[in-house]
Amino acid sequence: MSSTLSWSDETALANTLGLPASAARILKVAHGNDALAGLDLASQTSLPVLPLGQGSNVVLPHLLQRAVFVSTDRSVQVIDEDTDAVLLRVGAGKGWHELVLETVTNGWFGLENLALIPGTVGAAPIQNIGAYGVELSQFVRAVHGVDLQLAEKKSLSAEACEFAYRDSVFKNILRDRFFITSVDLRLSKLPRVDVSYPALKNALDGEAQPTSQQVCDAVVRIRQQRLPDPALQPNAGSFFKNPIVSPQVYAALRDEHSELPAFAQTNGDYKLAAAWLIERAGLRGFAAGRVAMGERHALVLINTGKAGQQDVLALAATVQQRIEALFDLHLEVEPRVYD
Ligand code: FAD
Ligand code: NAP
Repeated sequence: MSSTLSWSDETALANTLGLPASAARILKVAHGNDALAGLDLASQTSLPVLPLGQGSNVVLPHLLQRAVFVSTDRSVQVIDEDTDAVLLRVGAGKGWHELVLETVTNGWFGLENLALIPGTVGAAPIQNIGAYGVELSQFVRAVHGVDLQLAEKKSLSAEACEFAYRDSVFKNILRDRFFITSVDLRLSKLPRVDVSYPALKNALDGEAQPTSQQVCDAVVRIRQQRLPDPALQPNAGSFFKNPIVSPQVYAALRDEHSELPAFAQTNGDYKLAAAWLIERAGLRGFAAGRVAMGERHALVLINTGKAGQQDVLALAATVQQRIEALFDLHLEVEPRVYD
């Protein structure tokens, strides 16, 4: 065990929802061996270990009774390349948006649609981050880390990560069980961009063959116009997942609500826009004490002033009840809620 490894003096947990939160213990972890040594350290307490990043997809309690592991590895290495592509190994502590900007500057294609998503590289596989028609899973070749139950270093292939829509094995059988230390991403050197997402196409103003820099800039522009900046209006991004329903459920809903936006999935199901459902339920801008649903974006729950976890969960429950009453649909909370 590394002799220098010890709990951090700092116990406050920064989070984009701006909830007052701290952890029983925090450990800064540079690599897999640190994580293994950290498990020894944690076993001397009764605290379960929990990996966290920048707190942009969590709803935290006042005191999180966990030994929180945070990656400090911000390295980016080219571990393989050929004429068409480059294979990067990126440390889990690297800021996601910072990585996107670096890849765009280097002329590597793929991540530009995922610009300005808050958080770390290590957290990106957890919900298979996605935006503007692109998902992380398209680029992942492997995820490296430590199995916290077996106390073993492990590498998972992309297939073993079981990526799906805002989902992965890390939200299911490996939930709270795997500390990600680095992620391998394969990016194209060939100028291929995906501008099929309508809002992105519009923002590019008919540009037929945009560069990855142009796509990245357009995504940043749209996001800055549409989404509240957590530094000014604390939030955790989309608070609910877009529900995915069977063709039968979709047909019944469409009969009642002819303008309901829906997107056909490859398996025949339909993805519905949660923001539209919330707006239709009259909850855009709906305020309850120290929290409110967004005025600009109905899917974003905002901490409007010194809210605590209970304020957030109470508003989320109200929204879920109204949507259930109106559409007979359950909205699933996207950020992870801890008690
Ligand atoms: P945290 O919030 O700290 O943790 C999230 C989860 O990941 C937790 O369950 C935690 O246990 C786990 N985790 C964190 N680090 C590790 C690790 N090293 N090993 C294992 N598990 C780990 N998401 C999208 O998909 N698309 C978007 O477009 C998008 N836009 C957003 C916009 C805003 C304004 C905000 C606030 C959030 C948005 N999000 C979006 C959600 C969020 O940015 C992502 O989920 C992000 O990947 C979370 O990163 P984080 O470092 O903050 O993770
Ligand atoms: P939007 O463009 O207003 O569209 C609303 C919803 O419709 C989106 O959630 C999107 O689903 C879906 N959609 C729109 N066009 C689509 C198409 N051609 N094919 C399939 N689905 C389509 O969305 P927005 O809220 O401004 O967000 C823009 C993008 O950023 C979205 O991809 C969204 O997921 C992402 N984002 C995510 C978060 C988060 O915290 N998870 C926060 C902000 C933005 P998808 O969500 O599946 O793309």
